[in-house]
Amino acid sequence: MKGIEGTFDVVGGHAALAYFATLDPSRLSHGYIFSGPVGVGKKTFARRIAQSLLCETPKATLLGYCGTCAGCTLFVAGTHPDFVSSEGRIKIGGDGGSALHDEDLSARDLVRELSLHGYRSRYRVVMLGDVSFATHEAANALLKFFEEPPSGVVVILTTNAPGSLLATIRSRFIELAFGPLPRVDVERVLLASGVAPERAAFASEIALGSIARARAILDDDDLGVRDASYAWFANAVRGEPADASFLRLDDRSLSGAEKRALVGELIELVRAAARDWVALSVAGANVPLLAADQQSLYATLPTRDPKAMVALLAAVGDAARLASTNVSAGLVVDYLRVQLAP
Ligand SMILES: [Zn+2]
Repeated sequence: MKGIEGTFDVVGGHAALAYFATLDPSRLSHGYIFSGPVGVGKKTFARRIAQSLLCETPKATLLGYCGTCAGCTLFVAGTHPDFVSSEGRIKIGGDGGSALHDEDLSARDLVRELSLHGYRSRYRVVMLGDVSFATHEAANALLKFFEEPPSGVVVILTTNAPGSLLATIRSRFIELAFGPLPRVDVERVLLASGVAPERAAFASEIALGSIARARAILDDDDLGVRDASYAWFANAVRGEPADASFLRLDDRSLSGAEKRALVGELIELVRAAARDWVALSVAGANVPLLAADQQSLYATLPTRDPKAMVALLAAVGDAARLASTNVSAGLVVDYLRVQLAP
C-alpha cells in the first residue's frame, strides 16, 4: 500500500491505516486513542507504529520498518529505551486496590516517562493498553504532558470504553476507531499462530470478529465467559433469574477496566444471541447464525412479538453505548437484563 515502506503487518484498523499512511510525518500528533472492542488488533497496531517510528532505516513514510536495524532489533527484544508500554488491563494511579496489579503504572512513573525525550531515536513512544485512570492525579499527569509535550513523544492509548475517559483527556487526542475484524482475518491470525485449520475455521466462525474471543473459544479455561453469557441471555429473555457471577462485579481484585471488558464481552455476545433469536423466529431454522454452536440453546427460547424483538435489538445497542461510558458495570448489566425481560 502507498504510505508504507518495509514491513507493516497488521489485521484490521482500516481507519488508522488510512490515516497514518497518508499523514505527513511533520503532522504526527502527540496523542492517539485507538478505540474499539477487545481483540481487534488495537495494541498490535500501536506496537507496529512504535516499531515504525523507532526503525533506523531511513524512509519517507510513517508506517513500515525494516526488521533488521539496531532500532528494530532492540524493539523486538523488548529493550528499546524509547518504547514504554503497559500492556494488559492497567490502572494508572496508586489507590483503589490497584496494588494487586503489579503491572500498574503509577502517576509519578507516567509523569517521568512523558517528560523524557527520545534517548536513541528522535521519537519516544508510550503505549498504555486498556487504559483507565484510578485517580485524578493520574489523569492530570497526562493533561500536564499536553501543555508542553517534548518533541517526538507520542502517547497511544487503547480502550474499549472511550466514553469512560475524561472529556478533557479525550479532546486532546486524535481518536481512531477499530471495528470487528472480517472472519477471514481472524482465521488468518489463528492459522499463522499454529492453530490447526479445522479449529481455526470453527473458532473464527463464531468469534464475532475478535481474535481475543477466538482464542478464548479455543482455550477451554476461558470458554466459561462465553457459555455463561449465552446462558445469562437465555435466562434473561425467559424472565428467570440470570446468574451474573461470571462477570465478577464484586471482585475487588479486578480493575474497573477488567470489569468493563467482561461486561463488554457479555454485551457483544448478547447482541449476537439476540440477532440469532430474531433471525430464527422471523426466517425459520435454516437461517445462518452468528453463534451456530448455540442452536440447541436457541431452541429453548420463547417466541416473542416481532415488534418487541426489534425494540430489544435497539435496547442492546443502547446498553453497548452505555457500557462505553463511565456508568458502572453493574448498572449496565441491570439495564440490559431489564430490557431483555418479557
Ligand atoms: Zn528497522
